[in-house]
Amino acid sequence: MEYYSKTITKLIAELGHLPGIGQKMAQRIAFHLLHQDEQSVRDFADAIVTARTSARFCKECCTLTDEDICPICASDKRDHHTIMVVEDTRDLVAYEKTGQYNGVYHVLQGAISPMQGIGPGDIRLKELMVRLQGDVDEVIIATNSTLEGEATALFISKMLKDTGIRVTRIASGVPVGGDLEYVDEVTLLRALENRKEL
Ligand code: ZN
Repeated sequence: MEYYSKTITKLIAELGHLPGIGQKMAQRIAFHLLHQDEQSVRDFADAIVTARTSARFCKECCTLTDEDICPICASDKRDHHTIMVVEDTRDLVAYEKTGQYNGVYHVLQGAISPMQGIGPGDIRLKELMVRLQGDVDEVIIATNSTLEGEATALFISKMLKDTGIRVTRIASGVPVGGDLEYVDEVTLLRALENRKEL
């Protein structure tokens, strides 16, 4: 039985598809939106559509951005010989917020997960290999401390074994199973400072 009109039911259903949003929260957001004036809701909807339409992967590091080359890769103030490998753009943002990392990134857009059928070919490893043919001193592997993150770190370290490039892994100060974006900046910095050679 439907308690709301069709349009409201549809709105709640769409909101309920968002990550971490259950039925109750979807209802709450829907009613919040319905009580806003029409222009604010339009602005909100436009922001979603515009962000989605202009979203693309940086041609260099594969992060989500709205330009061909993201601002970090385009900057000549960054150390382009040090590449930190992270799983997604939110992890990159977490490290950027520390303000202490001056290298560049490579965003894999995922992690290897045999359980979910995600293999090395399904994430941005090929793009990483291409970059490593350039002048690179160090690759810092900062994938999450999950099973998938560790499997990915292992794969990359094997892949780079004979390249002569220094390969390090951030320390496990990052809690096991924790997504990097939820870790506080001090912990992230400590993990980076205490990184180990692989
Ligand atoms: Zn980039």
